Amino acid sequence: MSAESKYWEPSIETMSLDDLRKLQLKRLKAQLKYVYERSPFYRKKFDEAGVKPDDLKTLEDLKKFPFTTKMDLRQYAYPHGGDLRCVPIEETPYFHCTSGTTGKPTVMYYTRKDQEMWTNVLARALYGTGVRKGDIMLNNYGYGLFTGGLGFHYGAIRIGATVIPWSIGRTEALIETLRDFKCTVITGTPSYDYYIGELIKKRGLDPEKDLNLRVAIPGAETWTEEMRKRIEEWLGLKAHGGGARMMYGLTEMFGPGVATECEYEQGMHIWADYYYPELIDPDTGEPVGPDEQGELVLTNLVAEAMPLIRYRTRDITKLIWDPCECGRKAFPRMPGVLGRVDDAFSYKGTKIYPTAIAERLLKFPEVQEFQIVFDKTVMPYRLIVKIEVPPEKRSPELKEAILSEIDKAVFVRPELEFVDVGSLPRFEGKARRVIKLE
Ligand code: ZN
Repeated sequence: MSAESKYWEPSIETMSLDDLRKLQLKRLKAQLKYVYERSPFYRKKFDEAGVKPDDLKTLEDLKKFPFTTKMDLRQYAYPHGGDLRCVPIEETPYFHCTSGTTGKPTVMYYTRKDQEMWTNVLARALYGTGVRKGDIMLNNYGYGLFTGGLGFHYGAIRIGATVIPWSIGRTEALIETLRDFKCTVITGTPSYDYYIGELIKKRGLDPEKDLNLRVAIPGAETWTEEMRKRIEEWLGLKAHGGGARMMYGLTEMFGPGVATECEYEQGMHIWADYYYPELIDPDTGEPVGPDEQGELVLTNLVAEAMPLIRYRTRDITKLIWDPCECGRKAFPRMPGVLGRVDDAFSYKGTKIYPTAIAERLLKFPEVQEFQIVFDKTVMPYRLIVKIEVPPEKRSPELKEAILSEIDKAVFVRPELEFVDVGSLPRFEGKARRVIKLE
């Protein structure tokens, strides 16, 4: 492949929407038949819903098929894949699982062919963000059970980048490594990039002169455009001709690589030749209108070990169909995770996604860190937003400006508290900026 190519797989990435839909339909028919024949879980589920694989004549017919939920995976797939497994264990040498912080871990197995598909889609995704052969990538995702570390690792090596398998932590030493090894690419959660950026500043380093970072690939948590701008500036990415480009994925869909941003940074292209996306209303399960936001539902179009049909991600997003300048016209974009179905709370009769508040807060450069506390232990419930602002920048005008921005986003005015800089937690892994007391 030419080093000049813009695409990892030109014929796929530039295909027309018509061709993509034909490919999706063909793959979907085969996948439904495959799970019906091999997975006792899907046979039972389809039978109970009164549908057969042959009922799918068009892509739109998929909505007749039942959803798969996280609860299904906890109940029927733990520990060895259970009734969701389509091949025997001796054919699934690869394994990952989630941390299981809110219940039993969600386990996923992969055949050699699955692993090959995932590595390829990750290489395609990373290449799209700007990673090239010869890059030195410091991989800041946790290695081990979590899909992030090893997923990025395999994908980057496939491209020909050198990977420093850093995993998480030891931030002081990490900054030395970025400088001494002239790292050009960094992966990790946006909140960790943020934290690294703060430390670079504290150490008196100039990211444009002292570091070589060109591409950051934040993922695994919600972030906002304002965070992108800060990360690009704090890590010196634009000065080196690159940027911060988001990646989206989830363990249940192999891991990272479901969607990524190209160099135009206008939302993440969903790799819809492998993952078929739908958006639904989380309350009714019905498809949402073309420009509406909804819960992302994904179906594996190419998977062997444990394909999932209509998996409810709990992530709220939108689909953008306007053509992107990069030419990947058939692959719709998602602007990021706009909220988690489970994070939403009802306050004064309004359903609030904390991300909407976060996005507004980060428009204010005075705000260095924040925490959103929803307290249901008192009556009436309290919604408190704590913001770190240096004392000299605090003023009633700033408070009013922030409250009015929040009001525009979620139609309520929370209690807003200034707190000391450095008093709120910083995050090395996934950020926990929303606290629910109940
Ligand atoms: Zn694009």
